[in-house]
Amino acid sequence: VTQAEYSQRRAAASALLAEDRLDGLLVSSPANIRYLSGFTGSNALLVVLGDSAVLFTDPRYELQAAQQSECAVRIARGALLEAVAKWLPRRGLGRLGFDPRLPYAAFLALKRSRVRLKPAEGLVEGLRMVKSPAEIELIRRAIGITSQAFEGCLRLARPGVSEVDLAAELDHRMRRLGAERPAFETIVASGRRAALPHASPTAKALASNELLLIDMGALRDGYCGDMTRTVFLGRPGARFRRHYAAVLEAQLAAIGAIREGVTAGAVDRAARRVLKSHRLEGAFVHACGHGLGLEIHETPRLGRGDRTRLRAGMAITVEPGVYLQEFGGIRIEDTVAVTRDGCEILTPTPKELLTI
Ligand code: ZN
Ligand code: ZN
Repeated sequence: VTQAEYSQRRAAASALLAEDRLDGLLVSSPANIRYLSGFTGSNALLVVLGDSAVLFTDPRYELQAAQQSECAVRIARGALLEAVAKWLPRRGLGRLGFDPRLPYAAFLALKRSRVRLKPAEGLVEGLRMVKSPAEIELIRRAIGITSQAFEGCLRLARPGVSEVDLAAELDHRMRRLGAERPAFETIVASGRRAALPHASPTAKALASNELLLIDMGALRDGYCGDMTRTVFLGRPGARFRRHYAAVLEAQLAAIGAIREGVTAGAVDRAARRVLKSHRLEGAFVHACGHGLGLEIHETPRLGRGDRTRLRAGMAITVEPGVYLQEFGGIRIEDTVAVTRDGCEILTPTPKELLTI
């Protein structure tokens, strides 16, 4: 991402501030700070004003801040929030927007500055929802690494190998392929354990004639990939084949429903309608997908009844699944980029039923 793009983003944020009649915005979430300034250090606050922005960080990051960001940098030796609270009154600001997720203690420290504080919820997140072409390319690269690591590790998925071992191999492979780290804890769940949609890998060994669900994502240059595949070790029975076909049909229906202008809820509904026709709607216990970018879960949420309209440039996952206690779980997840008349699937890994 170029400095020109960061500068454009700050200008877009400033324009929103004016709309909300705010004179400034205190940005506190690391992803929002990175989005607006380019700075990736772990301890920072950013104050966006009408036409400028000031980045507060500590002496450990003095050099890094100057290298990564064109924003004015102020180095604070104590708590950053105290430094901001001391600095604010001299700016003659009227109303300052803040992130309502700020901890209460931080809010109290800020209040001492005597600036009028207004909660500004989701302002930067709203900007982050639609990605630039450069961001879509970064997400494509993260997904490319994810797919390559998955395909490279499939031959290791044999009976006797534990879920944690396989997860460690997947993580290792992603790093070797250029990931900074996994974007979230890799899920490897075999057999009935896959009935838990967010299972952590355990010491359980993979067994033949069991399904295997893998949900993983690489983080590269700050951007996340997210992919799920469910494969079968051995020869699947009729029930697995039937359920797999139903989930795949639902996933394709959801992908087919995506284009600029439709609501996020309509995409979820397309998947749910297919699963209902297979009498599996009760087994689909989560939303159909989510936005992703600098964070693994971003807006929009492709949940039931969500009325956010999709826009070209959004990056979202499409991941219907069915979970049955005595059977296990099947989920198929791709990352896609919304376009004007449809979407582009960024995940290269095939999703026809795979037996190994
Ligand atoms: Zn996932
Ligand atoms: Zn996901």
